[in-house]
Amino acid sequence: MKKTVVLYPGVGVGHLVPMVELAKVFLKHGVAVIVALVESGVKSTDFSAAVARAKTSNPSVDFHVLPPPPPAPVDSNSEVASTDLVTKIFKLLTAMNAPLRDFLRSLPSVDALILDMFCADAQDVAAELKMPAYIFYASGAADLAIFLNLSSRVAGNTAKMKELGDSVITFPGVPPFKASDLPNEVTGDGDALPAIVGMFDRMSHADGILINSFDSLETRAVRALRDGLFVPDRATPPVYCIGPLVSGGGGDKAEHECLRWLDVQPDKSVVFLSFGSMGTFSGKQLLEIAVGLEKSGERFLWVVRNPRSPDFTYGDSLPEPDLDALMPEGFLERTKDRGFVAKSWAPQVEVLRHRATGAFVTHCGWNSTLEGITAGLPLLCWPLYAEQRVNKVHIVEEMKLGVEMRGYNQDVVKAEEVEEKVRWVMASEGGKALRERVAVAKEGAAEALKEGGSSHLAFVQFLEDLGTATVQD
Ligand code: UDP
Repeated sequence: MKKTVVLYPGVGVGHLVPMVELAKVFLKHGVAVIVALVESGVKSTDFSAAVARAKTSNPSVDFHVLPPPPPAPVDSNSEVASTDLVTKIFKLLTAMNAPLRDFLRSLPSVDALILDMFCADAQDVAAELKMPAYIFYASGAADLAIFLNLSSRVAGNTAKMKELGDSVITFPGVPPFKASDLPNEVTGDGDALPAIVGMFDRMSHADGILINSFDSLETRAVRALRDGLFVPDRATPPVYCIGPLVSGGGGDKAEHECLRWLDVQPDKSVVFLSFGSMGTFSGKQLLEIAVGLEKSGERFLWVVRNPRSPDFTYGDSLPEPDLDALMPEGFLERTKDRGFVAKSWAPQVEVLRHRATGAFVTHCGWNSTLEGITAGLPLLCWPLYAEQRVNKVHIVEEMKLGVEMRGYNQDVVKAEEVEEKVRWVMASEGGKALRERVAVAKEGAAEALKEGGSSHLAFVQFLEDLGTATVQD
């Protein structure tokens, strides 16, 4: 009988996008798939738009929207609103276990539940229904190595995190990084740390972890994970590097104007600047970027989101930016022949793959990282939030596929640095060498995915293991 798996991406654009790609891999291997969606609780217009795009561009994938969680405490907004984003997401997803369980029970048979990292608590549901549960880790192997290691070291004693201060941390398989490169939610005073540590601890009990990466991109980290050094007294679950799973783009109703603009630009001449589904800058930082781009003399395509107001909370929709008010006086007019400013959103994958695009200024979200590498573009790394600072360390120090914007952890990245780095990446020998290294990594990605490649074989191995998975009581 045909196998059926249920994929559960939780909330977050960067988590949904690769999970939908994973659904297509299952379909290709003859496995039936249902993607169970959470559409209530965290009301994000960006997420809703991403769901709509995923549905439009993937008619072969079966989506099922779960009903809202039972009322209170999640729906009584006072408590939820008082916590930070990560805690809020955990609370919502834990409350969603009940509707998820009802949905799974309603299906004739389910062979496995594949969970986003934030949904690790849904392993309880899988255990109750006696089905195997796997994690799909939407970031890289090196991140996973760091967080599994960190969680086992902190081991419930979160005060230990504080003791790290700004020390340099060395873990097997990853380059040294500073404690301050960890996500703010891990090092800060908020209440998310115990939940994050708990999440990684729970992940280490999964039947296996699928990673959106490929062996040749993160060789040392993958080896360290396979050596299973992280979880004391117990084996690390099997890891399967099955990526890069990168969206094919599309799904937008009409072709975005920026693609028509790119069509008339020379080959590899445009620097693309885009900062993920949540990246925003202050007005002051936007001005610095504009001045730097103008002075660089290079062509650019820049996605500008409106600065957040001080009372912004996740899920609030950002108004369209008023470019005349945000940009330096006369900037748009002076750069109109060589620059395009897209308001709020651009079809990133199509832009990156366009022949006219030559470099990518990125916030180092993992999807963006993979999308840039598989498009063969050198990366200028400007991390903003979540695990992006450690991603930056991996990209620059380990993969050597990007250079950092030094000012990322200062008040602002100065116009001079924007100008200098943009010129460097587009027109210097160093930039050329970087481009050549990314071209090799792009080849490596294609090799990994083709029949007999490491990611293809890992997925086949995963399906075999799934066929023999037994559920512990
Ligand atoms: N994205 C896009 N257009 C934009 C901004 C983002 O298409 O203007 C897509 C991008 O291609 C990627 C996802 O949104 O697939 C963002 O995921 P990532 O992991 O890079 O960052 P996150 O949003 O999770 O911080």
